[in-house]
Amino acid sequence: MLTLDNVSTGYDATNVLHGVSITAQPGELTVVLGANGSGKTTLFKTISGLMRVRAGSIDYEGRQLHRARPNAIVKAGIAHCPEGRHLFGKMSVEKNLRLGSYPHRNSSRTEEIYAEVLDMFPILKEKAKQPAGSLSGGQQQMVAIGRALMSDPSLLILDEPSMGLAPIIVEQVLESVAQINRNGIGVLLSEQNAKASLAIAHKGYVLAEGRIVLADEASRLLDNPEVQAAYLGL
Ligand code: ATP
Repeated sequence: MLTLDNVSTGYDATNVLHGVSITAQPGELTVVLGANGSGKTTLFKTISGLMRVRAGSIDYEGRQLHRARPNAIVKAGIAHCPEGRHLFGKMSVEKNLRLGSYPHRNSSRTEEIYAEVLDMFPILKEKAKQPAGSLSGGQQQMVAIGRALMSDPSLLILDEPSMGLAPIIVEQVLESVAQINRNGIGVLLSEQNAKASLAIAHKGYVLAEGRIVLADEASRLLDNPEVQAAYLGL
């Protein structure tokens, strides 16, 4: 289980997260909703060690992670697929994917996961030798998710994976996220598509101005009038 207890962090003199406490149960899909600028990206960067925790603690499967470096956090089983994908556009799809496997030295496991990623996203098998930058937005998102999976995580953090994609592609991306979760990998997801992401999630949180303002089972959040008004356009 991932547990954040009263986590605060920020940039320079300003705090962006104010005493955030959340949990993500093993094997579950947890979604974080919130308007632009509410702090979702900051929250995810803090979990994966890209931002320093100013107060509070982060525990994953019994290990304290709030002082750990990003590579130790990946080794502990948490992979981060960042907002905006951050692929190496001139490098081949295969090389981009293999970059994600650095935490484990076991080459047979690497090949096993590589085959699993290509099974999940068959189009990437066809495009393996092409520069990642030549792929469509949806395909590049598959590469970014696949690269994160290459580290063999037990928890995958996905920051707005459907950003900038056409509605039909958004559906496909969220279906792959649901499939990854059905395969037993825990997922912590932030999404603009509140309804579609709550539909595949177990639990959800609503972040507003760096504070958790709602926490509930995903199905209950879908029925919550406050959530419907603010995020579901109902
Ligand atoms: P979005 O959906 O737009 O990505 P978000 O919920 O992920 O939004 P964050 O990107 O975490 O929100 O931003 C939270 C707050 O932190 C915002 O007020 C933003 O202006 C501020 N912020 C983000 N990055 C920086 C930075 N590098 N330096 C200073 N302030 C920042």
